[in-house]
Amino acid sequence: MKKTVSRRKFLASAAVSMLPSALGHAQPAAGKVLSLLAGDTAGAASPQASWKDAGVIDVSHSPYAKLHTVPIRAVTIQEGFWSKRRKTNLSSSIPSMHDELIAHGRMDNFLRLEGKSTEPQKGPVYSDSDIYKWTEAVGFALQTADQPALRKTTDAMIREVVATQEPSGYLNTYYVDDRKSLRMLYPTQETGHELYNIGHMLQGAVAYYRATGDRTLLDAGIRFVDDFLMPNYGPGANQKGIVAGHPEIEMALVELYRTTGNRKYVELAGYILHGDSRIPLRPQQITYMFCGIPFTSRTRLEGHAVRAMYACCGATDYYLETGDPAYWKTLNTLWEDLTLHQLYVTGGVGARQAGEAFGDAYELPNARAYGESCAAIGNMMWNWRMLTASGEARFADVMERALYNGINSGMSLDGTTYCYRNPLAFDPSGDWSDRHDPEGHIRNPWYDTTCCPPNLERTFASLPGYFYSTSEDGVYVHLYDNSAMSWQLHDGNELKLVQTTNYPWEGDVKIAVTPATPSEFVMYVRIPGWSAKNVVKVNGQAIGGARPGSYLPIQRKWSQNDVIDLSFDMTPQMLKANPAVTEDRGRIAFQRGPVVFCMEHLDQVDAEQAKGLAHYSVKLDGQTTHHYEPNLLDGVMVLEHPGTITRSSADTQLYYSAAEPLTAKETPATLRLIPYYAWANRTPAAM
Ligand SMILES: [Zn+2]
Repeated sequence: MKKTVSRRKFLASAAVSMLPSALGHAQPAAGKVLSLLAGDTAGAASPQASWKDAGVIDVSHSPYAKLHTVPIRAVTIQEGFWSKRRKTNLSSSIPSMHDELIAHGRMDNFLRLEGKSTEPQKGPVYSDSDIYKWTEAVGFALQTADQPALRKTTDAMIREVVATQEPSGYLNTYYVDDRKSLRMLYPTQETGHELYNIGHMLQGAVAYYRATGDRTLLDAGIRFVDDFLMPNYGPGANQKGIVAGHPEIEMALVELYRTTGNRKYVELAGYILHGDSRIPLRPQQITYMFCGIPFTSRTRLEGHAVRAMYACCGATDYYLETGDPAYWKTLNTLWEDLTLHQLYVTGGVGARQAGEAFGDAYELPNARAYGESCAAIGNMMWNWRMLTASGEARFADVMERALYNGINSGMSLDGTTYCYRNPLAFDPSGDWSDRHDPEGHIRNPWYDTTCCPPNLERTFASLPGYFYSTSEDGVYVHLYDNSAMSWQLHDGNELKLVQTTNYPWEGDVKIAVTPATPSEFVMYVRIPGWSAKNVVKVNGQAIGGARPGSYLPIQRKWSQNDVIDLSFDMTPQMLKANPAVTEDRGRIAFQRGPVVFCMEHLDQVDAEQAKGLAHYSVKLDGQTTHHYEPNLLDGVMVLEHPGTITRSSADTQLYYSAAEPLTAKETPATLRLIPYYAWANRTPAAM
């Protein structure tokens, strides 16, 4: 990878190499270096501002990042598709989840250790992570706008959390008292989630620091890693073995390096990704945990889907810092396995309920789809990192598919109930009870394993950070919605981009490009893989070369009030799965733009009489029409397509002769489809 290092860049990287002392255990010399740099007009951003300049991940000094992230605060999502979701997230989801966390003793777990609560320990081994993930959602939300009440509440919670840190640096509310002797034993590392909890703590701490500059939680996380973890666990003869158990710590350690500049954290992440042969693991554990052996020896996605996705995130982060080609090769092998064999049309992953796991190739059941919300989020986070490494649109396509569908379905429209599972077919008369959802409601306000709700909240809170990236030669536009970006190019020229659109309902997007100083750079606009025919214009003049599933580079001297007009192909599509997906034989999926559609029985003309959707057939040569219904499901596009409702002898017989045709009664009907993400927001109905 060719890199020209300008003086400004050199100074910036010099600054980061000194950061460990500035942000880790304070050493006065580093502060001096930073203030010298801040006083240098050609220098990097001032140390006061540097925490404000980081994106969802901070790859501004990652040598193998082709793209650089843009801070969440630099992008404002305006009235449109995502603004509703984000307003609800802030007004309902984050506050109601706070109350659920309190009601279910998640803060009592900390307060008890300080003698401030008499409640017993509550929740599973990973309960601390619920607080940390919620804190991360708050951190991302505060990066968009100050929320004094929310800030005050969270500050107080953080103070209670750090008060329970032991002098050794250890911090965990489960492995205390009678369980203290179990800490970090090999079986505990495998199943006890101690490092998973700390991984989420670090991510929450970093997001909160980047929002507020408050490093209280960050310092506690550093103390855990520096004082407790690194001296005792690692490759040394005097250290014990280490295994993630549930991958998460890897990406958190790399982000901690990016925040502090302490390279040791990347090395530890690499060591964990490599696996520690001193820890004896059974083959089933190696499969299920997706860790414990060299990441680069993996050839397929398997085991627990969230573990696998988080491991891939951590491995991509490690690649972004080290450029290890073996990692890039493995990551691409796994990505091909994902997209050729294991990805739902909704962007969900993890087919099997048993072990919340990936299945065999083409094993993609519909009603029995697990599709955990966290796994779809992990999929988006992984593809975001792959996109950052490569600038290739194939990763953005997967990201967008997961975001609009398999992630977006995970939160109810009112923001107060959540899916743990995201099935692709549903019959309300069936038994949907599950270990995490004992009553089988599918959408619940609370789960005792409440990983998904705050994960959805942090995703929607961080969404502005996924819209754009910068590169050496310009800007990449990944996602479309009414929004404004105010940020700067790598040469320091300030740039404002304003998008005006009705995406994803309509395919026209106008981007006003306003550099502070007219200059030549490249606007890379994403042409979605689903858009067959595309028109791109600059100031009214058509530009050729737009290919589906790529970024169209538009290089010119950009001046104030230049305008790009994009027009994507919103023709509704009927998709078939590879015939090897046996569950999808004889089935099709409807997609329009990035949105995958479903039929909910409530919307069908025969809603009163028919019992299920199995009787519906689609006329493949029929025309799909669409119209927007502002009062349905907070406003959705509805598709209508001609079909039939079939009544045949198959309704009354389990088996019948293949040689004799069925006596079938077909009634023509118009099938009505709603966006998949909006299903199960009304009375329970077949989907
Ligand atoms: Zn989850």
